[in-house]
Amino acid sequence: MTHLFLSKNAAALKKLITQRTLFAFDLDGTLAPIVADPAHAGIPKTTLTLLCKLSTHTPVAVISGRSLRDLKHRTSGNFAHLVGNHGIEGIAEFRTQSIEARGTCKKWAQALRRNGEGLDAGVVVEDKLYSLSLHYRMARDRARARKKLIDLADNFEPQPRIVPGKCVLNLVPQNMPHKGTALVALMKQLRVKQALFIGDDQTDEDVFGMISPRGLKIMTVRVGKKTRSKAQFYIRSQGDVERLLRAINEGWADELSLL
Ligand SMILES: [Mg+2]
Repeated sequence: MTHLFLSKNAAALKKLITQRTLFAFDLDGTLAPIVADPAHAGIPKTTLTLLCKLSTHTPVAVISGRSLRDLKHRTSGNFAHLVGNHGIEGIAEFRTQSIEARGTCKKWAQALRRNGEGLDAGVVVEDKLYSLSLHYRMARDRARARKKLIDLADNFEPQPRIVPGKCVLNLVPQNMPHKGTALVALMKQLRVKQALFIGDDQTDEDVFGMISPRGLKIMTVRVGKKTRSKAQFYIRSQGDVERLLRAINEGWADELSLL
């Protein structure tokens, strides 16, 4: 994992600009700063403007764990390519799997209602239709709340894939499309050969750890350095996303002026 803004990586960045590239971003902790209450998370206005500018040159996508409905609202309807629920929602070819995922999530939500007594009052269960998010940021004892949620989820039928995030446990149905498969599906749909993906969390490792299918190139960037991450590059903080967007937009303008 190397710092993206080192001069030795300038060539890799430049390659993104010289041909049609899909620029795909996670939302929370990447485009939007992490806030205490996830309901209040939003993309800063400057970031949104930079993204809109970028989308006039090349396709831009947001691939998030949030529901599609939530994403549409939080991106102010600016982007054509939105993928929700960690990759399950928003890709036409994954429709059959998403129906199955909905059935599974209904069962889990019922089980939580049945067996959830004794859960910390600060725990917020978010039913996103195709996955569940169990938020414990506002629990009195976070560690205790987290353990209790894992114990409960471990006994769910069918067993969920538990993807931990920042003060959240995501319960995702097993053997479903993930952010990585969604990104590849989008690339094929849009007929682009290369993509840049930026994310900050465990669920983004599904993209970072993926071997690019033949003929496709995926450059991966993590927000925040982490030794065990499989991302190729990192930027130091969420605030650096704007710096990156600015550099890419400027690069594009330079390329265009040379044509
Ligand atoms: Mg994130």
